[in-house]
Amino acid sequence: MKYEITGKTKLTALLGSPVSHSISPQMHNEAFHELGLDYIYLAFDITPDTLETAVAGLKAAGICGFNLTMPLKVHILPLLDELTPAARLAGAVNTVMVRDGRLIGHTTDGTGYMRSVTDAGFDIIGKKMTLLGAGGAATAICVQAALDGVAAIDMFKRKNNSWDKTEAFCDSVASETGCQIRLLDINNTNLLAESISESTILTNATSVGMAPNTALSPICDQSLLHKELIVSDIIYNPRETLLLKQAKAQGCRYFNGLYMLLYQGAAAFTCWTGLEMPVDLIKKKYFSN
Ligand code: NAP
Repeated sequence: MKYEITGKTKLTALLGSPVSHSISPQMHNEAFHELGLDYIYLAFDITPDTLETAVAGLKAAGICGFNLTMPLKVHILPLLDELTPAARLAGAVNTVMVRDGRLIGHTTDGTGYMRSVTDAGFDIIGKKMTLLGAGGAATAICVQAALDGVAAIDMFKRKNNSWDKTEAFCDSVASETGCQIRLLDINNTNLLAESISESTILTNATSVGMAPNTALSPICDQSLLHKELIVSDIIYNPRETLLLKQAKAQGCRYFNGLYMLLYQGAAAFTCWTGLEMPVDLIKKKYFSN
């Protein structure tokens, strides 16, 4: 059956740069089609320099909502009228909903991640997480894990110029959620070993190991990955990173970032349409591991 654009077709979109590799257009358009919704999702290559003009134009044209990917998740903040509590805490937005001419910023990376944990068959509520990285994805995961009731999070990053800002972020999430959050130096191997030994889950939210640098892992000493540990890498290209290969060799249970990608999209879809994305169909068509 062919897609039919009508005079009433509602526009949704992805803004970012680059965007041509993204599977979000296929995922959303397939879901709109499956549910018989008169919506379309397009990808636009937009940089921080063109963001304000693009958003004004799309808003004037009556767009329903849009996603933001790298490098725009923080640049969008001053252009928004409202933020959800999770987006405010994370300081980043990947989904915007337009309601009565107001732009409302959401973050669905964190909910997408937490749903992928459940989908993989794990329960980490009340448990401890070792979280590697402190970029856009890591902060969204940290906020949602804390909001959902993960008891303690050790966030590891390099001691570089974003350290103080990240420390302030950790303090504010800890005080607003009651989760115990520590910011630690990723190059301190003793602290990393201690944290992993106490954790139920190790989550890699750095870009280390992502294609084309597939020979790298954020964990140098594979023996730190104890048998009871769940190892999660939010990278999905490659499907099996070196970290996940190490986890497999150590006998750990593990999963990649493919379903985080699916579920962050599903949450955006619900935000715009009020309906559940038909995730089983989308999984089968676009997300085979
Ligand atoms: P980002 O904001 O650029 O953050 C990158 C993070 O990686 C930073 O915390 C940075 O550490 C850390 N890092 C980079 N090189 C490092 C190194 N050599 N050693 C230690 N840490 C290093 O990027 P992002 O948007 O958060 O994305 C991070 C990864 O997640 C990417 O691979 C992306 O593809 C993936 N991702 C997946 C999904 C999904 O749906 N599955 C969604 C979003 C992102 P410092 O803070 O120490 O500088």
